[in-house]
Amino acid sequence: MATKRLEAYQDVLHREPRHVDFNGKLSDLFGKNVFHAEQMREYLPSDTYKLMMDCMTHGTRLERKIADQVASAMKDWSISKGATHYTHWFQPLTGSTAEKHDAFFKPVGPGRAIERFDGDMLVQQEPDASSFPNGGIRNTFEARGYTAWDPSSPAFVIGKTLCIPTIFISYTGESLDYKMPLLKALHAMDNAAVEVCQYFDKNVTKVNATLGWEQEYFLIDSALFNARPDLMLTGRALFGHAPAKGQQLEDHYFGSIPERVHAFMREFEIEALLLGIPVTTRHNEVAPNQFECAPMFEECNLANDHNLLLMDIMEKIARKHNFRVLLHEKPFSGVNGSGKHNNWSLSTNTGVNLLAPGKNPKSNLQFLTFFVNTIKAIHDNADILRACIASAGNDHRLGANEAPPAIISAFIGTQLSSILDDLEKNIKAGKMTPQDKTELKMNIGKIPQIMLDNTDRNRTSPFAFTGNKFEFRAVGSSANCGSSMIVLNTIVAKQLKDFKKSVDSRISKGEAKDEAILKELQVLIKNSKKIRFEGNGYGDEWVKEAEKRGLSNLKDTPRALKVWHDKKVEKLFEEMNVLSARELEARREIEFDNYIMKIQIESRLMGDITQNYFTPAAIQYQNKLIKNVQGLLHILGEKNGRIASKAQIEIIERISLHLNKMRVAAELMLEQRKIANKIEDVEEKAIAYCDKVKHYFDEIRYHADKLELLIEDELWPLPKFRELLFTR
Ligand code: ADP
Ligand code: MG
Repeated sequence: MATKRLEAYQDVLHREPRHVDFNGKLSDLFGKNVFHAEQMREYLPSDTYKLMMDCMTHGTRLERKIADQVASAMKDWSISKGATHYTHWFQPLTGSTAEKHDAFFKPVGPGRAIERFDGDMLVQQEPDASSFPNGGIRNTFEARGYTAWDPSSPAFVIGKTLCIPTIFISYTGESLDYKMPLLKALHAMDNAAVEVCQYFDKNVTKVNATLGWEQEYFLIDSALFNARPDLMLTGRALFGHAPAKGQQLEDHYFGSIPERVHAFMREFEIEALLLGIPVTTRHNEVAPNQFECAPMFEECNLANDHNLLLMDIMEKIARKHNFRVLLHEKPFSGVNGSGKHNNWSLSTNTGVNLLAPGKNPKSNLQFLTFFVNTIKAIHDNADILRACIASAGNDHRLGANEAPPAIISAFIGTQLSSILDDLEKNIKAGKMTPQDKTELKMNIGKIPQIMLDNTDRNRTSPFAFTGNKFEFRAVGSSANCGSSMIVLNTIVAKQLKDFKKSVDSRISKGEAKDEAILKELQVLIKNSKKIRFEGNGYGDEWVKEAEKRGLSNLKDTPRALKVWHDKKVEKLFEEMNVLSARELEARREIEFDNYIMKIQIESRLMGDITQNYFTPAAIQYQNKLIKNVQGLLHILGEKNGRIASKAQIEIIERISLHLNKMRVAAELMLEQRKIANKIEDVEEKAIAYCDKVKHYFDEIRYHADKLELLIEDELWPLPKFRELLFTR
């Protein structure tokens, strides 16, 4: 009888692409299912519309009466789109999004009903979500958590549901999600950046952080996916020998997109465009069956909502095409993992990108100010930046010789490096002479705009300047970008705030404004030098060099998360009004817990699969061989029979060897899990899971993968890498 694996494979061979019927212009679809400004203008009285716009751009409070009017407009609009239900859409700390649907429909008497949705229902909801992670903030007996509307991100309709983007907070007002601290970090950034912009342009009244993410993912046929319990439960292949052909030919990268995949991409892009997600780029990635999708960049909060929505839509649409999406950072060992580059910059209400080099010395000084302050922020807070991208999945990627290393550094390119070096050399203790000033101005003036087109690229850097933005490459593919954007915006805001203070103090001591700015920048350049690295981030020399420089190399999640305990970090987040000490502590707990649970599930599954899949397959094949050997001995007699069955006996022995070693390691792992489970403290427990439990993963896998090579193909129970990665 064929194994489930071979049955699944038969299914895949008969797949047809599912084509979507749409021949119009894509631009006609854009934002059709979003309740954005234009819809509001149509559905709201003009004074209400104005108040609403004010609330969206400046965060002013909406009065109850206005909220009622907006709710009613939203309801009418969404019903016209076919909606029957509404939900508060939020981002709990599990990493995905959550929703609880309620009907507009309300019975109002015998046989009578109306469609109801008022301001209260729009503004606040109580999802009674007692099983979302809360890090001890919300005891389950008072399970109240509230969702509250975020008017800066527009409502949208998916299927028959009106979705309202919301923050998620506890009864006592603490944040339990990514959105609320992100909004606060962006607010802090706005304030700090506007203040600094005043040195250069008094017309700047608002600075937005911008985010352009690039989402990498794998696509696997659903039949093969369903035949792999590890992919189903953990999102990654816990076992599997590398195929004879992997990515070494690099023939997948930017190659032509297979037809079935193309049909899937087209459908999810149409869905994305309807929701106002400006997806523009798609291509094959380096690994087989790996792809990437990227939109135009947007204001950070909106961009993050859009990324979460996109991940959700991708999964839903993939199922229609008999695909499953893997967002895990490292689904297959031996081929590239997936990341989510976060391209980040700052943009003013006057239309200036603060991280784009300018056309003249004055705008270059402004550029340098934001550029150097960002590097200083990375320098001072590298460990927080490392912590915000830490996860069990990303541990397989960071430092694994293909992704950014776990050492945080910044790459800025040769041209900017020499400009910063020149500036630093010119550092003068006392007052600048007119000649010093001219020299410095010349340096700054040297940064031409053409740099945008000729910046060198360094794919091995976790944090790289790419012409007019920084690219944070170490973010994991399954992550909520909120986590990294909260940290990045908070630390840069804090740095800008300190910079402003120092420059003001220089000015008050009689230095001219430009001179004060320049001198302060020189100090920052000097004090942040060790974070700059232009070489190969994958090389062993960098590890040694980084150690010499005193940079951290936190190789796993439990070590990286320790920084949340640091008093300095607590002070920073409190000062910037992004997270309170209590909120920070809760997050720390949740992240350690998430890590523990992920490793625990993987470990259990490893035990399960070795016992219930591999052991029986090994025995079955051995029995087949034993029967053959017995037959040969019977026919040929002892001596000739032994000679004739030499190969068989050798295979029987090798199977026994690997089977035993695999099982012994699995037993030892189980023992360690039992010990780890008794540990109370989350940090200690996470370390035990990392060092003691996960420690056995490689060994178990090594022997299992050897069995895969030894056992007859027909009998191997799980789809192999070559099937997972090369069929579509
Ligand atoms: P790649 O890194 O794949 O070579 P690019 O560097 O051309 O691609 O651009 C990647 C992403 O950078 C795009 O998704 C784009 O939206 C984003 N991006 C461009 N400018 C900005 C900006 N000012 N702020 C944030 N993101 C930006
Ligand atoms: Mg990129």
